[in-house]
Amino acid sequence: IPNAEAKETAKATDGDKSDEEEKEDRAAQSLLNKLIRNSLVNNTNQVEVLQRDPNSPLYSVKTFEELRLKPQLLQGVYGMGFNRPSKIQETALPMMLAEPPQNLIAQSQSGTGKTAAFVLAMLSHVNPVNKWPQCLCISPTYELALQTGKVVEQMGKFYPEVKLAYAIRGNRIEGGSKIQEQIVIGTPGTMSDWLTKKKVIDPKKIQVFVLDEADVMIAMQGHQDQSIRIQRKLPKDCQMLLFSATFEDSVWQFAERIVPDPNIIRLKREEETLDTIKQYYVLCKNKQDKFDALCNIYGAITIAQAMIFCHTRRTAAWLAGRMAAEGHQVALLSGELAVEQRAAIIERFREGKEKVLITTNVCARGIDVEQVSVVINFDLPLDKDGNPDNETYLHRIGRTGRFGKRGLAINMVDSEESMAVLGAIEEHFSKKIVKLDTEDLDEIE
Ligand code: ADP
Repeated sequence: IPNAEAKETAKATDGDKSDEEEKEDRAAQSLLNKLIRNSLVNNTNQVEVLQRDPNSPLYSVKTFEELRLKPQLLQGVYGMGFNRPSKIQETALPMMLAEPPQNLIAQSQSGTGKTAAFVLAMLSHVNPVNKWPQCLCISPTYELALQTGKVVEQMGKFYPEVKLAYAIRGNRIEGGSKIQEQIVIGTPGTMSDWLTKKKVIDPKKIQVFVLDEADVMIAMQGHQDQSIRIQRKLPKDCQMLLFSATFEDSVWQFAERIVPDPNIIRLKREEETLDTIKQYYVLCKNKQDKFDALCNIYGAITIAQAMIFCHTRRTAAWLAGRMAAEGHQVALLSGELAVEQRAAIIERFREGKEKVLITTNVCARGIDVEQVSVVINFDLPLDKDGNPDNETYLHRIGRTGRFGKRGLAINMVDSEESMAVLGAIEEHFSKKIVKLDTEDLDEIE
């Protein structure tokens, strides 16, 4: 069995994914997070700032009024329900709106307010009287570009003189004509085409250049070179802004090529901990037995909302089918679904319409479903070499710092191998994982 299972596992967990697919996943993950997020991520960490000129005073603002925005924009910001700048915005906005303009590299996880910040900067800098592009923004994919465009439209709602164009594939434009919109959002390929081949945008008139999702960008074939080609066309005094959710060395090297003399701000991700989590394991004989155990505890876990992780798409689909046949209402989040469909399922779950969400790790990576208080590892997390995946374990069940509500994690163990994985995880975190008897649930209730 182990061999056959392992083979199936490798296939179904996307272990055999080509690099290209893996990279597309990154863009899809980012889009998914945008589609399901409707508020800021909590973060209690301090913003780290590295100023180009360490002697210049560091401004940070606690209110939007302090930024002396155009009234139409202030109205737009409040209209979106923002009361005060987010943590990253407190420092980033004054830098971006300073005179003379300052270049900026900013890194913070998804959901901390980066997009809103640079959209506000673009809208503040344009002069609507001038009927030509003044701000360019590039995103890794068509869909991500559209999401940014939506924010421009929302925030610019009371500033209708400012117009927006999309430089994306399929958006045909006649060479020789000129674009009149003040803000152009697009993907690197089409944007570069419009600047250099079609010449519908005059690069010398660009005052703000934004490169969003730099980490996703560099993971995509050709995007890096095209971005640099665009940047080289722009005037020396054009403001360059670069944003990224993560900051590997490769992102950093790219950022330094795109943004000369930058100010740098970073907001570290909030640490995840197991401190507020009660961890259990259930000893089973096989997959069927795990299913029976799950049915036994179903009543107890659905007092709250539960997420169940399986190793393969196939197991996830099997389990969802069996649970449904048993009369339990469950949702299945699967990698086969389009991003919008996945977003809709997560949204339903967040709204509490579904109590149980079954998924695979690959599919749920990077998704934060904050209110989930029960996590079940139907299969323990393994990395692609089959070793215990501590990081994924922590990410599945851990909670961030002070916001962490209490939680419950139940691990299903059905072989000596999985018991060894459990032991390794227990040892790694130095946190006891207690045996649970599913016939006697007093323990967890
Ligand atoms: P990022 O680009 O870092 O992923 P976003 O700018 O998309 O973050 O913001 C994440 C979410 O928080 C969005 O729903 C956005 O509307 C909201 N948001 C952004 N800034 C604020 C703010 N100052 N106050 C309240 N909500 C905000």
